[in-house]
Amino acid sequence: MKHDTKIVKAGRNAKWTKGVVNPAITRASTVVFDTVAEMNHAVANRHNQTMVYGRRGTTTAFAFSEAMTELEGGAGCALYPSGTAAITNAILAFIQQGDHILMVDTAYEPTRDYCDKILAKIGVSTTYYDPMIGAGIEALIQDNTRIVFLESPGSITMEVQDVPSISAVAHKHGCIVMLDNTWGAGINFKPFDYGVDISVQAATKYIVGHSDVMLGTATAVEKHWPQLRDYSYLMGQCTSPDDLYLALRGIRTLVVRLKQHQQSAITVATWLTARPEVAKILHPAFASCPGHEFFKRDFSGSNGLFSFVLNCGNKVALTAFLDGLEHFKLGYSWGGFESLILGFSNVNSIRSATSFDCEFPLIRLHIGLEDVEDLISDLESGFERFNKVLAEG
Ligand SMILES: *Cc1c(COP(=O)(O)O)cnc(C)c1O
Repeated sequence: MKHDTKIVKAGRNAKWTKGVVNPAITRASTVVFDTVAEMNHAVANRHNQTMVYGRRGTTTAFAFSEAMTELEGGAGCALYPSGTAAITNAILAFIQQGDHILMVDTAYEPTRDYCDKILAKIGVSTTYYDPMIGAGIEALIQDNTRIVFLESPGSITMEVQDVPSISAVAHKHGCIVMLDNTWGAGINFKPFDYGVDISVQAATKYIVGHSDVMLGTATAVEKHWPQLRDYSYLMGQCTSPDDLYLALRGIRTLVVRLKQHQQSAITVATWLTARPEVAKILHPAFASCPGHEFFKRDFSGSNGLFSFVLNCGNKVALTAFLDGLEHFKLGYSWGGFESLILGFSNVNSIRSATSFDCEFPLIRLHIGLEDVEDLISDLESGFERFNKVLAEG
């Protein structure tokens, strides 16, 4: 089945829709039974989409979890109240004191903070690795390495990883391969075709797609699914059926939204390549992006998120660029229908194994669904303010 058809059907099992188009919002803490036999039957089927207690999920959770498994692949999908909770709990499910994990140097900042502040405290050590390491990761694997964690493309600087090469080496040494697949959104990258064991997403971003819900997912291959599911339950992870309903609604338009985000982002990035102030476009579909060859090999498309590096400027000029934009708002997120922008005067503070050559500011854009001409003229006005500060400086 093609993606466009799959997203229309995903999770719309008659068991959850009960004769209407969308799965019902089933709000519950308590699930009630009339007889001991019925209760025992529910408990025996608790891993088989049967309601037992609200924390284990109601039919709305079953519908969304099934939909995500259909999109990502794998044997099952555990749900969390945020993408960060999905990452931290997926890792926690598979480690014990004395273990070691390999974490990509370009991981989302809270993922790094979890390794440095929480895993370190419970006796699990982390080595950060160069996102472009490929099969060379073998040299970093220790006897106690349990998890190799990837995020592709990397946060902020967008390096695309050689996922199959890293996965093959990790598996040779008995490690579990986890990937933050938020950028791929379950559509543009198929993690389980490239050796990933557990794929995590901040559904907060493109799955929900409307900037109004926090939600995380972790989808696992058969071998690891029971452990992921059980630890998620043990940690008390549960999600609101109202939020899950919005996520299910978001999925229905995921492919058309991504196509428009992709097209507009490529138009803006192409326009930026001709700007005299731009040194480099960090967009996986552009040859200037590290790992572009892996993007071409492994991805079926891109989306609205990319960065670019300037060849001049300073903090004051960057601030002048960012202040006064009409359509791009400053915001720590992406994946919604609206355009967002972030400026960085130094990204080296959020990496340790590699250093990013950035004498001048870096800007990250999320290209929303506004008219692309409006977005370009907004950025043009930003460059005018930027250049005015430099000329006066
Ligand atoms: C936003 C994001 C997360 C975290 O998701 P939250 O829902 O905000 O906790 C994780 N990984 C990536 C790549 C993200 O962009």
